[in-house]
Amino acid sequence: ISSNSKPQTHIFRSKLPDIPIPNHLPLHTYCFHKLPRCAHRPCLISATSTYTYAATHRASRKLAAGMSKLGIKKSDVVMILLPNSPEFVFSFMATSMLGAVVTTANPSYTAAEISKQLATSKAKLVVTHSVHVPKIGYGLKVITVDDPPENCLRFSEVSEAEESDIPEVEISPEDPVVLLFSSGTTGLAKGVVLTHKSLVTSVAQQVEGENPNLYLKEEDVVLCVLPLFHIFSMHSVMMVALRAGSGVLLIERFEIRSLLEMVEKHRVSVAMVVPPLVVALTKSPAVAEYDLRSIRMVMSGAAPLGKEVEEALKNRLPHAILGQGYGMTEAGPVLSMCLGFAKDPYPTKSGSCGTVVRNAELKVIDPRTGYSLPRNKHGEICIRGQQIMKGYLNDEKATAATIDVDGWLHTGDIGYVDDDDEIFIVDRVKELIKFKGYQVPPAELEDLLVSHPCIADAAVVPQNDDVAGEVPVAFVVGFHLTEQAVKDFVAKQVVFYKRLHKVYFIDAIPKSQSGKILRKELKAKLTNTS
Ligand code: ATP
Ligand code: MG
Repeated sequence: ISSNSKPQTHIFRSKLPDIPIPNHLPLHTYCFHKLPRCAHRPCLISATSTYTYAATHRASRKLAAGMSKLGIKKSDVVMILLPNSPEFVFSFMATSMLGAVVTTANPSYTAAEISKQLATSKAKLVVTHSVHVPKIGYGLKVITVDDPPENCLRFSEVSEAEESDIPEVEISPEDPVVLLFSSGTTGLAKGVVLTHKSLVTSVAQQVEGENPNLYLKEEDVVLCVLPLFHIFSMHSVMMVALRAGSGVLLIERFEIRSLLEMVEKHRVSVAMVVPPLVVALTKSPAVAEYDLRSIRMVMSGAAPLGKEVEEALKNRLPHAILGQGYGMTEAGPVLSMCLGFAKDPYPTKSGSCGTVVRNAELKVIDPRTGYSLPRNKHGEICIRGQQIMKGYLNDEKATAATIDVDGWLHTGDIGYVDDDDEIFIVDRVKELIKFKGYQVPPAELEDLLVSHPCIADAAVVPQNDDVAGEVPVAFVVGFHLTEQAVKDFVAKQVVFYKRLHKVYFIDAIPKSQSGKILRKELKAKLTNTS
C-alpha cells in the first residue's frame, strides 16, 4: 500500500432495499395517513376510554384550533408535561398541526428542572395536570387536563374550538417539530432539534416498504407503558403505531399486576420495553397468573439488555419474537432494528441490536484515527441519513462536534458489525474507563457481575487513582457476598487491568426510567466517600 493511498471506507447498509419515503409531508399528516381506512378502528386505548382513529384526529384538530386561539403559532414551543394519556397524543398532534414545536419533560421533574427547560426552550404554553402547576412559575399559558387552578385553562374547554378554525400553516420538511432533551446520563441533557423530515423518515424506515423492518398490523395492540415524554416511546410506540393503523394501549403508571391485567384484557400483541421492565417481567411471580399468549413481539431498547435476562424472557414468552432496537435522541432516533421483526424475518442472534435501518448508512470508526473499520472491529458507531437531528439547540459548536462535514452523526457508542450485518454495542466512548491507557468497558464487567447467582444488579464506574489514572470499581446489589468474593469472581475471568479495585454494596442501582444507569450519581457517591 502506498503511503498516499486513501484508506478504504467500510459502509454498512440494511439487508432491506431502500424505499421511497414521503418525507415532504408534515409529521401529523404522515401519522394520520391510515385515517380513512381505520377511521372506526381503535387508536388510543386507556384504562377509562377508547378513541378511534377518527376521534383521535378530531380531538387533535379541535385542540389545535383552541391552541391557535390562545395565540400559539408556527415555531412556538409547547411543553407537554403529562403522563401517558390520550391528552398527551392530542397535544402532540395539535402542536404539529400548528407548525409549532413539542418539548416534553418528565412530570416528576422538580420546579428547578422544569423552569430550566422552559427557559432554554422558550416555551409559550404548557399542557399539564394541576398538581404540576406550582412547578411552572408565572408568565406562561397553562392548560390543565383536570380542574384548572387560577389563571389556567381547562383542556376540555380549549378543545371546544371549531376544527375549521385551524389556521392554514405552511410547514416545510426542515421545520422543527420536536425539541427533546437527551436523557442526561453522561452529562448535561442537550436540546435536540428534530424536524418533520427526520421523524417521518425514521418512522418510514421502520414500518414501510413491501417488507417492513418492524411489521405492525392494523389488528395489533401496541403496549405503551414507557413514558411518551422520551423519544423511544414517542417515536417507536406512538408515531410508528399510528402510521401503521394499530391500537395503542396507554398505561399511565407502571405497576406489574395492573400492567399484566391490561395486557391480558386488551390482548396486547406488540410490547416495546426497556431492560428494567424485562427484568420485572422475568422475575415477578405474578407473570405466571396471566395469559400473555397474545404477545407476538417484544422489542427492547434504550439500554443494553443482558444475555441472561434475554434468555429468561424467552423462557417466559416462548411464542414471541424477541429482539432489540438501538436508538439515540440525536439519531432521529432509530439507528438499527432487529430484522426478526420484519414481515419476512431474518434469523438474528441474541445480544444483537439489530441491523442498520434502511435508507441509511452506518460505519464504525477508530476513535483515534477517524478511519472506518471493517466487520468485527470495535469502534465508534456513526450513522448518516435523512432521519438524523437538525442539530443541538443554539449550540453550533456541539452540533459540529457531533455531525461532521460529510453528514455523519457520531454516536459516542462503541460497537461492531458482525459477518451477518448485525450490530453489537459494547460500550460508550465516554464511559470507557482508562486504566494506565488500557480501556476497560464497564458494560462488559456489569454483564459478568450479574451472571453471578448472588448478584441482582451491578454498575461499574471509574475511580480516580494516582498511579493508574482510573481504576474500575463496582456498585453491587448482592446478597451473602463479601467484597473479596466479588473481586475474585471477576479477577478469575478477566485480564489484569479489568480487575475491580473496590466493591460497594448498595440497595439499588440508580437508573433513569428508560433503564439507563445514572453513572453521574454513582460517581458523585465516590467523591463523597473518598
Ligand atoms: P445523554 O446523551 O444526555 O448523556 P443518553 O445518551 O442516555 O443521554 P438517549 O438519547 O436517551 O440519551 O440515549 C441514547 C443512548 O442509549 C445511545 O447512545 C446508547 O448508548 C444507548 N442505547 C440505546 N439503545 C441501546 C441498546 N439497544 N443497547 C445498548 N445501548 C443502547
Ligand atoms: Mg447521548
